[in-house]
This record gives sequence, structure tokens and C-alpha cells, in this order.
Amino acid sequence: MNTTQRSESINSFFDSFVDSTTTLKQFVVRYEKALDSRREKERREDFESRHKSRILRIGSKMEHHGALVYTKTIFNLFQDELVKSNQFIKEKVSKDGSCYEYKVSSCFDSRDSFVVRIDLSSKVGTCQCNLFEFKGILCRHILAIFHIKNVVEIPKHFILKRWTKEGNKGNGVFENKPSVEDDHEKSATARCLHVCRFINQLSSFAEKSEEQYKVIVGDLDQIFKKVLSMEEDNNSSQKQISEVNHDALENQQNHSDPPLLLNIGDPHISQTKGRKKGGRGESQNSRFKSGLEIALAHGTVKKRTCHGCGGYGHNKRSCKGKEKSTNTPTFGNTEEEV
Ligand SMILES: [Zn+2]
Ligand SMILES: [Zn+2]
Repeated sequence: MNTTQRSESINSFFDSFVDSTTTLKQFVVRYEKALDSRREKERREDFESRHKSRILRIGSKMEHHGALVYTKTIFNLFQDELVKSNQFIKEKVSKDGSCYEYKVSSCFDSRDSFVVRIDLSSKVGTCQCNLFEFKGILCRHILAIFHIKNVVEIPKHFILKRWTKEGNKGNGVFENKPSVEDDHEKSATARCLHVCRFINQLSSFAEKSEEQYKVIVGDLDQIFKKVLSMEEDNNSSQKQISEVNHDALENQQNHSDPPLLLNIGDPHISQTKGRKKGGRGESQNSRFKSGLEIALAHGTVKKRTCHGCGGYGHNKRSCKGKEKSTNTPTFGNTEEEV
């Protein structure tokens, strides 16, 4: 949902309760009614989520588990991903202990090809497509890997509380409040999100003043070097790679640019309303012609001629040759202009 869609949906939500003639007193009453109807709708969806059974399309354990934990709407999205996860080719790129890296490519769409990194002992993983980071639903690529690795339930850290049937019970914000001690040490995704949040906050400070920007970039530079040297110490097998990174860092410093810390993907493209600009075909894109235009094109309507001079394309009033030729006799096919 983008911002325009959100404001439009709120507008249309209130449209049925409030209009331009509503007085302030009426507004208070109708506003309550509007909220009541929204609460009623939520209760109804709650009820359906809890008591109506889902239609399973695959019948796998994974699908059962999704039906058990997710609300109706989220389950439908999850099910779509699960069904599509069958159409992928999985190529192992690398393996390091229980950590695997796979290239997962669609049989039908060459653009739908992403790299999945996964630690099978903790079942923590990320996918290049970032669907989980954007929507909180496991993507078809990770699900495809889970399938071949016999992971038959959705791992706990991939189930967001807000998408579960219990999501609107209690105060999720405080219950889910991340603490460094437990969560971030376990889940790579949670660690990644935590750091992203930090960097986001820092970037807003950097926007405010040049001094703050310099402090932030300077310290981040230190952190970056520290982390890189840790990588080198811990991981001698990947020594070459980190040296390449180090070179890249030094190159960047030579150009006095701040080091690039975040790898930000393209946002999801949402469908806009209305007819597309440019397009599929001339016939769809051009407007409908009026009856007169069609008739003119086929030559079935007589062109109007000037009563004054007998010429085409103007009438007697706008005739330039008016004064000279007021007495010119009219022609047989001439029509009277009004
Ligand atoms: Zn993915
Ligand atoms: Zn004329």
C-alpha cells in the first residue's frame, strides 16, 4: 500500500458516513458509527480467521502450519508463495558447515532468480528478494530451499506476531521489543534489521547538520575497518575476499567519499490507478472518435462552404474576402451558415 492508496482508502471509508453538509454535532455521532463499523469488520474477520478452515492447495505440513498460525489474508499471501515455490531450480553455490548458499531460479521467468543464504542448524536465512524484510512473509525462494532441506514448519523467527491470529491481542510493541541479549544473537535477519534501524536514525541526524554528519561518517569508518579486520582474523579461508573489500574501501577514501555501508534494493513497484501512459496499442490508447469525425473521414458529410466567397474552411462572418465579393453568386452545393 503506498501513501496515495492509504489516504484514498481512508477518504472512501469516511465518505459513506460524512459529507460536505454534515454538521460538527452530526460528525461526532457519525465518526463513532464509522469506528464501530470498522471494529465490527475486524471482529468478523477475527472470527473467520479463527473458526473457518482454510482451503489447502498443496496439503503439505508447511501449508498446514501456515493455516494454523496466520490470519486469513496473510495465509492467502503465504499460500501463493508456497504454491509458486514448486517452480524453481535450485543450484548450490557454496557450503560452509551448516551454512548454504543457493541460487534459486524460476523455470518460467528469467528475472525471478535470487540468491538465498541459509544456516540450516538455526534455520536462519535471508533472500536477495527481501520479501520478508518488506512484507514479513517468507518468500518462494526460501520456501523452495526449505522444501529440499526437509524443513516442514515455518521457523519461529519467520512468524511476525502481527500477522498471526493473536496479532491484535495485547500490546505487541512491548512484547516484541527486541533485546540485544536474546534476539539479535540468534537471528541473522533480526540482527540485520536492528542495524538497519540504527543506520536509518543516524542518517536523519546526518541530514540535520554538517558537523553531525562528519562525526557519524568518521566513526562509521572506524567501525567499518574494525569489522573488516575481525573478518580477516576469524575467517582465514575468506581472506582474499576481505582484502578485496579493503582495497575497495581505500579506493573510496582516495576519492574522499564516505564508505558505502548499506546495500539497498529497488522498492516494490505498485500498480497505479487509471489508464497507463503510452502503451500497449494505438487502438487502446487513443480516444474514441465522434460521429462527425468518422463521417468526415469517410467523406459522407458535405464540407461547409462560405456563403460570401464560396471558399472552404470558414463562414461568411469570418470571411476575409467579404467586402470584395459580397455579390458573388452562391453555388449549388453551398449551405446556409448561421
Ligand atoms: Zn526470495
Ligand atoms: Zn469566404
